[in-house]
Amino acid sequence: MRRRTETWDLLVDSLVNDGALRTPNVVRAMKQVPRVLFLPEGASDYATVDAPLPIGKGQTVSAPHMVAIMNEALELRVGHHVLEVGAGCGWHAAAIAEIVAPKDAPRSEKGHVYTVEIVAELAQLARENIMRHGFGDRVTVVHGDGSLGYSEQSPYDRILVTAAAPEIPAPLLDQLKAGGVLVIPVGSVHLFQTLIRMRKNVDSGMTRENLGGVAFVPLTGRYGHTV
Ligand code: SAM
Repeated sequence: MRRRTETWDLLVDSLVNDGALRTPNVVRAMKQVPRVLFLPEGASDYATVDAPLPIGKGQTVSAPHMVAIMNEALELRVGHHVLEVGAGCGWHAAAIAEIVAPKDAPRSEKGHVYTVEIVAELAQLARENIMRHGFGDRVTVVHGDGSLGYSEQSPYDRILVTAAAPEIPAPLLDQLKAGGVLVIPVGSVHLFQTLIRMRKNVDSGMTRENLGGVAFVPLTGRYGHTV
């Protein structure tokens, strides 16, 4: 494990050198939460390869550079109330929790991550990983259709979607706070997708930015693709 952790640190350092990672608390969180801890057996040998990896049920955990790009784009701060759509194995949610609710922050200032997963077996995998690695007080895993958001805990400071939607689901925009940020891949199934950042202005108007081309598994559910 020690050698793997050193190799993970080298990968994170290379993401800093490439410019994918820039903000000290985002870099620290990536180092604190190595991907290997969340991978099923078989995939863990490849944890330090900068590529998506299989997590079962035909789904993948994102590549480290993509998690880095999304976490920087989200402009995360301590205390943020965050919704992730697509929990997968729980790794990305844990890396965000390490930014918005670091262990040394006073309890009253800690944020929280709600992560929704549509595949029951993956929701269970994410929940087990989150509990096993000590994130149970900072991350809540919900089994359900995250294309509808998770209105029970809305509004959110930040929302991220880790699967590509045909269009931005309206419930996610509704569940974003004024001043909040949503990061989401939008496009067709597997090809021609763009990472979009939406900012909800204080007057509730929206600003849309194109952050570049990406390749994600499709978002399913009510506002997702029919696959
Ligand atoms: N963030 C994850 C991690 O750290 O492992 C990786 C996410 S994987 C690229 C995308 C995930 O989105 C898959 O697990 C898939 O089942 C899930 N997904 C797709 N459509 C969904 C929906 N409507 N609601 C919730 N999860 C969904």
